[in-house]
Amino acid sequence: MGIPFHQTARIGAYVLKQHITGRKKYPLVLMLEPLFRCNLACAGCGKIDYPDKILNQRVSVADAMKAIDECGAPVISIAGGEPLLHKEMPEIVRGAIAKKKFVTLCTNALLMEKKLDQYKPSPYFNWSVHLDGDETMHDKSVCQKGVYDKAVSAIKAAKAKGFRVNINTTLFNDADPEKAANFFDVVTAMGIDGITVSPGYAYERAPDQQHFLNRSKTKELFRGIFARGKGGKAWPWFQSPLFLDFLAGNQTYECTPWGNPTFTVFGWQKPCYLLGEGYAQSFKELMEETEWKKYGVGNYEKCADCMVHCGFEATAVRDAVKAPWKMLTLGLKGIRTEGKMAPDISLANQRPADFMFSRHVQNKMEEIDAFEKKTGKSFSKVANDRVKPMEAAE
Ligand code: SF4
Ligand code: SF4
Repeated sequence: MGIPFHQTARIGAYVLKQHITGRKKYPLVLMLEPLFRCNLACAGCGKIDYPDKILNQRVSVADAMKAIDECGAPVISIAGGEPLLHKEMPEIVRGAIAKKKFVTLCTNALLMEKKLDQYKPSPYFNWSVHLDGDETMHDKSVCQKGVYDKAVSAIKAAKAKGFRVNINTTLFNDADPEKAANFFDVVTAMGIDGITVSPGYAYERAPDQQHFLNRSKTKELFRGIFARGKGGKAWPWFQSPLFLDFLAGNQTYECTPWGNPTFTVFGWQKPCYLLGEGYAQSFKELMEETEWKKYGVGNYEKCADCMVHCGFEATAVRDAVKAPWKMLTLGLKGIRTEGKMAPDISLANQRPADFMFSRHVQNKMEEIDAFEKKTGKSFSKVANDRVKPMEAAE
């Protein structure tokens, strides 16, 4: 396992406490997206297709701290966009660590070596470098040559300075199990501390719609990969073994999107990290007013192919606490890569997709324009001083 013991123990104790106190829906990982701007434009990315005025916005340090406190999750995953483009990122990371949160800072690594000295190694902190495979696979995935080499150089520099460094890998339908397994061997030999892997979610705003995996192909792909790595035991996973078992088609799980609540420049995103179908102004509002039953595989067309970690990892962690023997079996035998798969959820009664992206963008643009008209200031310039356009425009 690539998760340090003290982190596993703290998270296990947190989950156990939620169960003992009878809390049905609770957050496990806060997904903090402090900006949508990126210095890459990957074909499978559904996060960066916004007008400049929205791309120029940043979640302020104060709002990030408020989101962390409101939510209370023990783990913070900072994604984006590219978080290292946010000037106050070191302060956000320091603030989260001071609150004794386990912080994962995701990056495409283009700026990582340059910015390494702004961060300090800590048992509460790890980098997570975006790497979708070997040089050919990754540079194709991010649509730019030379990115793999830069990422590997940054990983080595960070390791030399004593940081914990993980990688996060997204696989698409052109992934080859043999190549993916070889890649995991290579990064393990490189000394990375943990691997997070997920099938790509079919973002409606991603430029490339041809390469997303459906559920049966996802399961076959992961069985093929794990079979080449001792049932997955050959690599240091930074995620629940039961989530990996789910990817290999051995568990029937429903998603628990409240386990990974998402805070962005729009506010708290409903219902999950992958879908922006509305925004709440507080964590409480997100938890109490989201119509959770409308989402998930079998309930909603946009969820049909989803097997992504931010929806199902929390489900797997809950299952590990309820059925610890499953973890023991996986620890001893590894992930099963042959035989019958667990039944999948029927899609017969799912509701059709609702397309509301343009409406949200339009609302945000109107909010920004109202602020700028009222104050004569550019909202992107004052956003870091925690002035919200609606507050200032009132
Ligand atoms: S996938 Fe990540 S690195 Fe690529 S464009 Fe999107 S945010 Fe940037
Ligand atoms: S299945 Fe769950 S995590 Fe996946 S897109 Fe739907 S609501 Fe989000």
